[in-house]
Amino acid sequence: MKVIRAKSAGFCWGVERAIQVAREEAQGGERTVYTDGPLIHNSQMMDELGKEDIREVGDYQSKSKLDLPAKSEKESVVVVRAHGISPERRKYLQNLGLPFRDGTCPDVGIIAGKIKAHAERGYDVVIFGDPKHPEVAGLLGYAKEHGHVITNEKDLQSLPDFNGGVVMVSQSTMFTHEFKNLSQILSTKYPELIVFDTICGATKERQSDLVQLVDDGADVIVVIGGKHSANTRKLAKLASSYEKPTFHIETAKDIEKESFHGFKCVGVTAGASTPEFIIRSVCEKLETF
Ligand code: SF4
Repeated sequence: MKVIRAKSAGFCWGVERAIQVAREEAQGGERTVYTDGPLIHNSQMMDELGKEDIREVGDYQSKSKLDLPAKSEKESVVVVRAHGISPERRKYLQNLGLPFRDGTCPDVGIIAGKIKAHAERGYDVVIFGDPKHPEVAGLLGYAKEHGHVITNEKDLQSLPDFNGGVVMVSQSTMFTHEFKNLSQILSTKYPELIVFDTICGATKERQSDLVQLVDDGADVIVVIGGKHSANTRKLAKLASSYEKPTFHIETAKDIEKESFHGFKCVGVTAGASTPEFIIRSVCEKLETF
């Protein structure tokens, strides 16, 4: 079976940066790095980082108190993950009394900045995204009491009536066509609506490269990445929408030869938090089928 790989498969710059920040702080295991929730949404990579004493201590949404050991033999440092956090959470982490480093992806930082600037001027802020995702939980904190999260048209219809200005942004990993559709509907009600397409370049690139795999003749698609990873799940959904059999897997162990019987060309892509060593091992296994 022929294997074609998407150009953009694997780490985006925001994830690479967060890992680099954590590794710099860990100093090769000299210090313990505590990340507030998973640094990135890939458990295999988190296991690898664990070997350098980079430990995940917070919860998925960065809401609960950190359970830190009372005494530690080594110096420790707190690192904020790629998805970012709310201003309240930042204050909490900075007050823990440990050195603090921010690994928030700058693309998420830009969204937070736009929300903060408009909420302070009294705008209502509509965020297109998954209300349970940590990035959205963090962004909502910048909107104060002016924030509203929508995931579909039904949510849009349930929004309260706004009297002042309204601004709309997106979680960084959503589909552009869905954001466009929802923002157009909202702008018919609020013609002065300010729309910022904040879906990041890395997400857009991964989505268009997946379409390229289909155009290049893939008759089955493998999407590699964490089950919690929003951008990986979106890639799998996009592949299914092209009516191609799609396998969302985490590692090479999740694929079996029998499932690929009768296919001639497999297109492989991976979410923005999937490490290269996993992508390579999946491609190598597929090439033997
Ligand atoms: S997917 Fe986009 S927003 Fe998220 S870490 Fe990567 S570059 Fe940043």
